Amino acid sequence: MERTLSIIKPDATSRNITGKINSMIENAGLKIVAQKMIRMSKEQAQNFYIQHQDRPFYDNLVEFMTSAPVIVQILEGEDAIAKYRKIMGATNPDIAEEGTIRKTFAISIDKNSVHGSDSPEASSKEINFFFSQVEIFN
Ligand code: ADP
Ligand code: MG
Repeated sequence: MERTLSIIKPDATSRNITGKINSMIENAGLKIVAQKMIRMSKEQAQNFYIQHQDRPFYDNLVEFMTSAPVIVQILEGEDAIAKYRKIMGATNPDIAEEGTIRKTFAISIDKNSVHGSDSPEASSKEINFFFSQVEIFN
C-alpha cells in the first residue's frame, strides 16, 4: 500500500465539482484516508511549489492556489502515486487522455483541477506539509 497527496484546486472547488472528482478517485480504486478543506496562505502556496520558483508561471500559480479554498487529501492504494498521476492526466488538459480528471474538468494548463505527488519522496514531504499525525485516522 502506498499513499499520495492530492489537492482539489480552486477552479474545481469554485465550480462545485469536488464530489465528481472524488467519485473518479474512488472509482479508480483509490481510498481517501484523510481530507480537509483549507484556504492556502500565500506563504504556504509559495513553499508548497518552491521547486517552481524560477518558472515564469510561479507567481500566477501562487495567486491561483490562494484564490479560493482547496481540498487536500491523502489517497491510499496499490501504486497510489503512479495510479493517481494516471487518472489525473497530463498537466495540460489539451493533451490529457480521455477519461482523466484533467481532460474531463480542467479549464487550462494552470487551472487544471488537481495536484498529485510525483514521487515517493514528494508524497511523504507533501503529506507532512499538510497533515499532522492526529489528522490521519487509518
Ligand atoms: P503537475 O501538476 O502535472 O505535476 P507541474 O509540477 O509541472 O505539473 O506544475 C505544477 C502546476 O503549475 C501545474 O499543475 C499547473 O497548475 C501549473 N503550471 C505548470 N506548467 C504551467 C504553464 N506552462 N503555465 C501555467 N501554469 C503551469
Ligand atoms: Mg508536479
